[in-house]
Amino acid sequence: MRIGQGFDVHAFGEGDHVMLGGVRVAHSQGVLAHSDGDVVLHALCDALLGALALGDIGKHFPPSDEKWRGADSRSFVRAVAAMLVERGYTLGNADITVICEAPKVGPHAQAMREVIAADLGVDIDAISIKATTTETLGFTGRREGIAALATVLVQRS
Ligand code: MG
Repeated sequence: MRIGQGFDVHAFGEGDHVMLGGVRVAHSQGVLAHSDGDVVLHALCDALLGALALGDIGKHFPPSDEKWRGADSRSFVRAVAAMLVERGYTLGNADITVICEAPKVGPHAQAMREVIAADLGVDIDAISIKATTTETLGFTGRREGIAALATVLVQRS
């Protein structure tokens, strides 16, 4: 078994929704990002890559590459899932925490779990989505941005 952790942040900017765990969530702001700025999927990819010591998301999908402009982050997850399979590993479980004051994550958590489980080819029970605020402290507390943490365990198939 191997463990991996990932962390991602995007600043809020103009817009009317954010992508979280592959789900479009209505919000009074969007995020500034080269891709779709999905912090949940970016943290998850980094955790999976970390578990296999394969570097980070920036190495595999560099923001300097025009190819990834506006990219659907689900394509990153599917690409990383393929790397996992290639190396003979499957996901045991993933535990993800979204950190923000808004938007509310709870009502969308089940849909996010379904998307992630489908892209990784695992049972929905293997995917946990949690949310917390920072009690109005720090950049998330000031509603300047949104963050996500992911921890994964992978095992040899
Ligand atoms: Mg990111």
